[in-house]
Amino acid sequence: MVEKAIPIVSKVIPIRIDEGKGLSPSIGAQLTTPHGHTKDTRGRTLRDLRISVTDRCNFRCNYCMPKEVFDQNYPYLAHKELLSFEEITRLTSIFATLGVEKIRLTGGEPLLRKNLEVLIEMLAKIKTAAGKPLDLTLTTNGSILRKKASALKAAGLNRLTVSLDGLDDAIFKKMNDVDFPVVDVLDGIKAAQEVGFENIKVNMVVKKGTNDHEIVSMAKHFKGSGIILRFIEFMDVGSSNGWNMEQVLPSKEVIARINEVCPLEPVEANYAGEVAQRWRYVDGSGEIGVISSVTQTFCHECSRARISTDGQMYLCLFANEGFDFKTLLRSGKSDLEIANAVMNTWSIRDDHYSEIRGSHTANLSSGNRKVEMSYIGG
Ligand code: SAM
Repeated sequence: MVEKAIPIVSKVIPIRIDEGKGLSPSIGAQLTTPHGHTKDTRGRTLRDLRISVTDRCNFRCNYCMPKEVFDQNYPYLAHKELLSFEEITRLTSIFATLGVEKIRLTGGEPLLRKNLEVLIEMLAKIKTAAGKPLDLTLTTNGSILRKKASALKAAGLNRLTVSLDGLDDAIFKKMNDVDFPVVDVLDGIKAAQEVGFENIKVNMVVKKGTNDHEIVSMAKHFKGSGIILRFIEFMDVGSSNGWNMEQVLPSKEVIARINEVCPLEPVEANYAGEVAQRWRYVDGSGEIGVISSVTQTFCHECSRARISTDGQMYLCLFANEGFDFKTLLRSGKSDLEIANAVMNTWSIRDDHYSEIRGSHTANLSSGNRKVEMSYIGG
């Protein structure tokens, strides 16, 4: 571990950089054949895998990659430290034998990873333990979606989530700290629709006092479009975004504001463990979702593991340590050995960070540093 001095602003602490040296996953003495159901100490089943394909992004959202920290001196991972497409595909196949059904590619900005569609094509060939295709999805800021949509669709990507934090250019800039026109993100979404993507979702992170007055206009904009808009509570991920509870607008307030102008009613979850609570417009013109990771936690149902850009497995978005699978992948271990290491890692999982989050969470100088979302994958 190296403590790297990075120019800081008052609320931002330096980021400690892991040099690919996470915890060593245990393969165990006796190898077990994967049976498609992998449970942790709290009875949670491993079903979803989020893979960060790059730690770089062309936006500087202040809640995720603030400019003061992620500047031109920031030590991004070198290409050789990234998992290759072959390594990602191999690891994904192994996770599929263990019960993973859904893969989300993320980052950083995943569309910045060169030839991402080649990786998608490779992943699209993998089958779940039940012999079905994986549910392949991607989260993007939409900035180069117009250019990429057709290749992504042709490669076999099933679904897309686009992040958009407001319709007003000035507000959008306040959130992402770059000059990027909202209209170009909307055009990227349109391009995705044109090439046949269905079930497109739009994620809006709500920061009280910054973009919360955009909630109703966003809702009105996407109402009736077939696109599901989801409002995410501003979270204390990472250690650099200066989070505090005062900037969190509880989801119930989001629902109340929209309900006042466009009446809503709750809808049943699509499946157990769905992160968003669903609401639909009473007039039948579609649905929205709220992700209340701060005010109504869902750790008890969490089925997600994460692979960082450099191949560390993280068991929680708020973790401060990962398990080094890149070294295992590069050290000649068999698929069965790696599968056992994943099973053993998941089986000791006990975290439930959001459920025990307290005022100490905001105390970033406590030394309890959490990994950055851009590295671990949002
Ligand atoms: N670059 C891509 C994007 O913009 O969607 C993918 C990576 S981004 C880390 C994934 C998602 O995490 C985005 O929807 C982003 O808004 C969300 N996110 C990042 N930091 C967050 C925070 N502190 N609280 C809530 N959501 C956050």
